[in-house]
Amino acid sequence: MQKKKQPTASELLMPLPRYLEEKEGSFRIHMGTTISFDPLFSDVAVLATEQLACKVGDEDILFKKGVSMGEEAYQMKVGKNQIVVTASEPSGAFCALQTIRQMALANDNIIPCCMIEDEPAFSWRGFMLDTSRHFFSVAFIKKLIDVASLHHLNRFHWHLTDDQGWRIKVEGYEKLETIASKRTLLNYCDGREYGGMYTDGEILEVQEYAHQRHMMVVPEIETPGHASALLAAYPEFGCTGGPYEVQDRWGIFDEVMCAGNEDLMHFLQDAITKTATLFTDPYIHIGGDECPHTAWDTCPKCKERMEREGLTSSKQLQSWMTTEICKMVEQEGKRPIGWDEVLEGAEKIGLPSSLIVMSWRGDQGGIEASNLGHDVIMCPNTAGCYFDYQHLDSYEEPGNIGVTTIEKTSEFNPIPKELDTEKRSKILGGQGNLWTENVTSSRLAEYMLFPRLSVMAERLWNPQEFGSVEERRESLEKKLSALDINLYRGKSY
Ligand SMILES: [Zn+2]
Repeated sequence: MQKKKQPTASELLMPLPRYLEEKEGSFRIHMGTTISFDPLFSDVAVLATEQLACKVGDEDILFKKGVSMGEEAYQMKVGKNQIVVTASEPSGAFCALQTIRQMALANDNIIPCCMIEDEPAFSWRGFMLDTSRHFFSVAFIKKLIDVASLHHLNRFHWHLTDDQGWRIKVEGYEKLETIASKRTLLNYCDGREYGGMYTDGEILEVQEYAHQRHMMVVPEIETPGHASALLAAYPEFGCTGGPYEVQDRWGIFDEVMCAGNEDLMHFLQDAITKTATLFTDPYIHIGGDECPHTAWDTCPKCKERMEREGLTSSKQLQSWMTTEICKMVEQEGKRPIGWDEVLEGAEKIGLPSSLIVMSWRGDQGGIEASNLGHDVIMCPNTAGCYFDYQHLDSYEEPGNIGVTTIEKTSEFNPIPKELDTEKRSKILGGQGNLWTENVTSSRLAEYMLFPRLSVMAERLWNPQEFGSVEERRESLEKKLSALDINLYRGKSY
């Protein structure tokens, strides 16, 4: 029988490292494999004992401290008898561990000999999960964070509130749990109650798990639109006083937070303070997208606010509100992030310069925002970043209207072509988003996310051509299957 050719490191990895030199032979991880490490990397080593099933002791795998390497950079030499990793920071050592783990998962614990020097192209490499439209368990969120971190992703954007459910507790507002976190299933269903709420303990558990994997958690409290769930619980926060209901349909609703209401502003202050206290990473996403102004146009309180603040349009009123909410976020020592609609109506009063703009309706928001001096995160739905879209235009595929093929994602470039060279540094990176209107279960969420999220991760770390991505589909499928991911295995275009 002919001996099967051993795969090379470049056939097993996604993202591919920035520099990779293949060598003869391989290193095998087995039950007796030992790991030794600089004390700086003790937490990474503990994770290594779990993820590679090795034990602390000798130096089969050695993590050494390097000098003046980038935060997430690492070097790695895989020899037949030893793997030596060098990094300056724990996050670099962690990325090296994931590179080893990828090869172990894809190749039955046999690591091809090689020399790697690696670091990311972009600092913001994220994924978003909408937990409002459908609720996802803590166990599943942790599973996603783990698989995302395997691909060197480092931001988990957690969409916690929307029209169809409010998922985070705010002390003093008990109806968020009793009313806003639940809805009655009316569409093609029997009127059952559906919902869920994350306890503070669960959120801390997710955060600790993410931090072990050098991933930041970015909570999103949506304002001032997509607020039906909140208004159902507290109708006095809306322009008309209601009644409102937690929506069981998808879309954009006219019922939004009343911009003239002081009680609502106090609530937002409390919600932001709570979020800032619970989440320890530097960012809070404040939403800002898809907010109709029909209710504001006929609301005496909103009109009064506009007069008092010298505003002449409802767009300016939204801009005023965005600025107020940004101030709340900044007072808590965090940086605000908003969807690209926050730029509308901002000509008159401007926006806080610390505000990071997330460009989702194509490239234009990102270009405008960077020209105004804002940092930008790119996730255009037109360029392969929306994973709620179908994998293919086919009756056989689940998903929202819209198609994101693997090929499309493999062509995503966070830097818009039209952007001036000197503005390019404003682009922090990008992310893939999973809206879950039509994603009713975690198994389906996996199918929508993978392998597109793996491909996205490579675009943000070290972009490769589509042909190269295609060649690695098989090893990628093996890795993801080993982690029990229910991935899409169909055509790429
Ligand atoms: Zn109003």
